[in-house]
Amino acid sequence: MTCAAPIRRRPASIRTMAGVSNRRVLLAEPRGYCAGVDRAVVAVERAIEHYDETVYVRHEIVHNKYVVDRLRSQGAVFVKEVDEVPEGSLVIFSAHGISPKVREMAAERNLRTIDATCPLVTKVHKEAVRFAKEDYDILLVGHEGHEEVEGTAGEAPDHTQIVNSPDDVASIEVRDPSKVVWLSQTTLSVDETMETVDRLRTRFPLLASPPSDDICYATQNRQVAVKKIAPDSDLVLVVGSANSSNSVRLMEVAKENGAKASHRIDAVEELQDEWFEGVETVGVTSGASVPEILVEQLLAELAERGYGEVQPVRTATEDLMFSLPRELRQEMRKQGEDDRRTRPSARAAEASCNDGIA
Ligand code: SF4
Repeated sequence: MTCAAPIRRRPASIRTMAGVSNRRVLLAEPRGYCAGVDRAVVAVERAIEHYDETVYVRHEIVHNKYVVDRLRSQGAVFVKEVDEVPEGSLVIFSAHGISPKVREMAAERNLRTIDATCPLVTKVHKEAVRFAKEDYDILLVGHEGHEEVEGTAGEAPDHTQIVNSPDDVASIEVRDPSKVVWLSQTTLSVDETMETVDRLRTRFPLLASPPSDDICYATQNRQVAVKKIAPDSDLVLVVGSANSSNSVRLMEVAKENGAKASHRIDAVEELQDEWFEGVETVGVTSGASVPEILVEQLLAELAERGYGEVQPVRTATEDLMFSLPRELRQEMRKQGEDDRRTRPSARAAEASCNDGIA
């Protein structure tokens, strides 16, 4: 994990042609990397170091262009499907999870696999398997086509229907209205999901709920933090890629909660001058797959534009950390390597961060 570089600060008030302005940044905390993303990215890095062969990765390991480009430059080869991986090779499954069918296809090709599925996604998979065994109809709230939804639905394809939005609820048909359960993608808007569930419950009063929250702690924490800064922000900037569900949700949540404007950017080069017209307070956050260096670059650029005063706004502290995938740990132990999540140098750097791990 990257420890945040010191934030460059400028005086709160700067004199402009028009007079004195009070430009500032409200910096949401927590933001950026979650425990599942951190684990998946470190897993690819450690695999590249450890194995003397090409490391294939099915799909983007996490939904962030910068991270994927960096891992590619280190030697990782990203593929869409396992049939693109040469027989007998090593492939890593991404943090979003896979369906059993993908596992079977990998076995047919004798691929050696490392499963970097986030344990919080695996939890939802297990719920799907359990409810399907009990013959429930599963209403999976999530975005059709998203890798995570495909993976979860693939655990129980004959029992699962995908509910994309509250508007889908009216057309849902189930076999037995007394045996219906809702589950969800981990990276949705909490508020929109609850609206969908309320409508589902109106239609199916005996609707069962997942045993614990499916929307993960990181998604929830980042939405709470952006809700806190949004009402005081003329503009909220969310760092994150277009295919990152939780980054896109952060942009929407900011708008719904009082930000005058909100934009998502992959990198600082995407900023547009007109976004800053009349803006005094800029809110900043980042999605769960975004390394802190991209936020540092944004803060540096904002300082150049006169937004040098940075006020952190913390709504939660995170200290969750997952160990590396089992297959990788076993292999590293066999070779007598340190199988802990990070390299010793990275652990030393972490110890100097006072910002937690996830
Ligand atoms: S966003 Fe949540 S579910 Fe997804 S990888 Fe991070 S912790 Fe896991």
